[in-house]
Amino acid sequence: MTYINEVINATKDKNPNQPQFLQTIEEVLTSISPAVEQNERVLRKNVILERLVEPDRQIIFRVPWMDDNGVYHVNTGYRVQFNNAIGPYKGGLRFQKDVNLDTMKFLAFEQTFKNSLTSLPMGGGKGGSDFDPVGKSDDEIMRFCQSFMTELYRHIGPNMDVPAGDMGVGGREIGYLFGQYKKIVGDYENGVLTGKGLSYGGSLIRPEATGFGATYFLEEVLSRKGESIEGKTFCLSGFGNVAWGAAKKISELGGKVITLSGPDGYILDKDGVSAEKVDYMLEMRASNRNLVKDYAGKFGCEFVAGAKPWGNVKADVYMPCARQNEILLDDAKKMVALGVPILNEVSNMPTTNEALAYLQANGVLVAPSKAVNAGGVATSGLEMSQNSGRLSWSADEVDRQLRSIMKGIHTQITDALDSYGMEYNLVAGANLAGFKKVADAMLAQGIY
Ligand code: GLU
Repeated sequence: MTYINEVINATKDKNPNQPQFLQTIEEVLTSISPAVEQNERVLRKNVILERLVEPDRQIIFRVPWMDDNGVYHVNTGYRVQFNNAIGPYKGGLRFQKDVNLDTMKFLAFEQTFKNSLTSLPMGGGKGGSDFDPVGKSDDEIMRFCQSFMTELYRHIGPNMDVPAGDMGVGGREIGYLFGQYKKIVGDYENGVLTGKGLSYGGSLIRPEATGFGATYFLEEVLSRKGESIEGKTFCLSGFGNVAWGAAKKISELGGKVITLSGPDGYILDKDGVSAEKVDYMLEMRASNRNLVKDYAGKFGCEFVAGAKPWGNVKADVYMPCARQNEILLDDAKKMVALGVPILNEVSNMPTTNEALAYLQANGVLVAPSKAVNAGGVATSGLEMSQNSGRLSWSADEVDRQLRSIMKGIHTQITDALDSYGMEYNLVAGANLAGFKKVADAMLAQGIY
């Protein structure tokens, strides 16, 4: 049995109830086989793969909070500190009702590779809670964030672990979390969290960064074929912060976003989501209703209940911006039949492994999320740099650096593929490039 298969099997035996974690382990490890085979003796001796799939630390804690009627509730909080070989743990916090340890481990593992690709010194971590923010009042959100931080503060720090937002955690939540951290710790350490408001150490362009970065990465992919965003149609899912940034940049560059989605279904806007419609996406998120049909009501376009755009709407590019595993094998089959040529994954692991294999076998160009959405965490890294230097850069400066980081990620991927004599496969290339840096750092630092 190969070294990779041994580690995959052992990970399966050890984590039988963690399908999402196992999915990403299988996807990543199988695609780095050229690197592992080339250096197998050294990697084996240093148990690199075994250490890579075992988080450094998994913190699970109780989060009690009181609702507006004076009733108490208890949720579970998590922080998985996966790997800090190349820098302090870094990654978002997700508040969503189906969050569990499996979700946290899959996201933290992905984050390790993603952060490595950004070229900035950040390790991988992820956290969150099964708290459901839908329908909660502002005061309830604040009390929950305060209780969450009352435990989390002891595990994080600007040089140790730097959380940020993810689904269900945006600028408002980061503000409440930071306020509580500051109250407990005393020092004004604003580098402990990213995604902060501008008045207390946040960075310009951070809210837009994931969507902007995803669009810049796609520009690199398209330019290889002599193509551009202009004139292309896009299906997006979600309508939160990530989809908002992508819609804004795509419409700025002359592309047309024709779908958005929510838990209730999707909207089809043939005129394109642009200008004030993009701004309205922010209102939809702030309303806490979590319904995309509000968009159709406001702008008079088609709303399809209980479905996703995948395989139902033809476009030049699909960009899932909602959550993991939203493109299943059946969707992939319909997508190929419709002739959609590019899948630019923005949400973390939106495609199941079967769907991914089918798409790649049928000539769909897949750009993987760990490269495509790395602009969010990369700009968090830029926020950390500004905090350390007690500086604040202009929007143009941050945007320029973001664009150059996304371009750099694409170059790292093609360089990695070239070095193994492989053809243009962005999924394998991203894993190979991300792995190399982390593995080199782990080897250099010895067994710990
Ligand atoms: N949650 C985002 C991600 O998945 C951003 C993390 C961060 O900024 O630390 O990469």
